[in-house]
Amino acid sequence: MVADMITTLNPAHREAWDAGKVGEPEDLGDGLWSIPLALPSERLPGSYSYLIDSADGIHVIDPGWPSDANLTRITDVITSLGKTVGDVATIVATHHHPDHLGLADRLRAASGARLVLSQTEHRVLEIAASPDASDADTYRTVLARWDVPVERHDELIASVAEHSLIHYVAPDDEVSDGDVLTLGGRQLRVIATPGHTSGHICLADDARRMIFTGDHVLPRIHSAAGLGILEGDEPLADLLASLEKLAEFDDWHVLPGHEFRFTGLGVRLAQVAEHHLRRTRAVAALADELGDASVWEWSRHLPWSAGWERLEGFTLHSALRQTEMHRDLVRSGLAQRWLSRD
Ligand SMILES: [Zn+2]
Repeated sequence: MVADMITTLNPAHREAWDAGKVGEPEDLGDGLWSIPLALPSERLPGSYSYLIDSADGIHVIDPGWPSDANLTRITDVITSLGKTVGDVATIVATHHHPDHLGLADRLRAASGARLVLSQTEHRVLEIAASPDASDADTYRTVLARWDVPVERHDELIASVAEHSLIHYVAPDDEVSDGDVLTLGGRQLRVIATPGHTSGHICLADDARRMIFTGDHVLPRIHSAAGLGILEGDEPLADLLASLEKLAEFDDWHVLPGHEFRFTGLGVRLAQVAEHHLRRTRAVAALADELGDASVWEWSRHLPWSAGWERLEGFTLHSALRQTEMHRDLVRSGLAQRWLSRD
């Protein structure tokens, strides 16, 4: 039977999330642990670090936000296994965002573990961590290009500065699509899933039909596209193609970066694609009317769940960026591939 909805596999983690908290670490068997870690955000209370305990050491997927409390939480699980942080042999991050990669540097310094990132994500991180990425003048030229009224510039510049807590960390190893990471007897196949960031990866455990999805697919949240890209990328087209790429994992056990683990990936993939395509369709419908109008003008004409007038700070920045990506997707002609299927 094909599922028509997703199934929450840890209701306690879901309840904790809905209460704005993080749940307790969970033993998933075969040496695999899910460790909820706290985030300094009301919208996103936590993230998951996954730990594989094995005879050849401990392997960590997405070490999480860099706080003392999170390092202690991971250490406590390791101690409960009769081991020490020095036993951490590998750290892999699905992408460079600080709620996933953040703690990697400290965990590596404490253990001597090798840090693995996708080759593309390493390049994305170099750009995201460069001084230029957080430079107010660089962003001001973007705001001018979008035709954002000058009186809104300071608010947007401040909100973006607050969100750029990205620090560069050099990986020891780089992987690409199709590579297989052997971690504690598990063979994890690297699936390149560009979109959220250009070098985002998922890890598929074929033997156990489990997939670690990072921020590519979450059970209820729709991750934004284009939060770290390389020059010339089309993040929305990439994201839509990366959703299709997971079709083969339809009924697998999904271990995401936030919220809770679930089954029903096939249903969720369709929901996420539809979420993005709804806006693409709205943009396509306005193309004749708005033509060469600015991103600001386009955004004003689009439906926003919070209401256009209420968008401010980072949500306004995000709305403008999303608008630009959808407009580019329609203009490039790439949108047709998905819209023509409706
Ligand atoms: Zn995240």
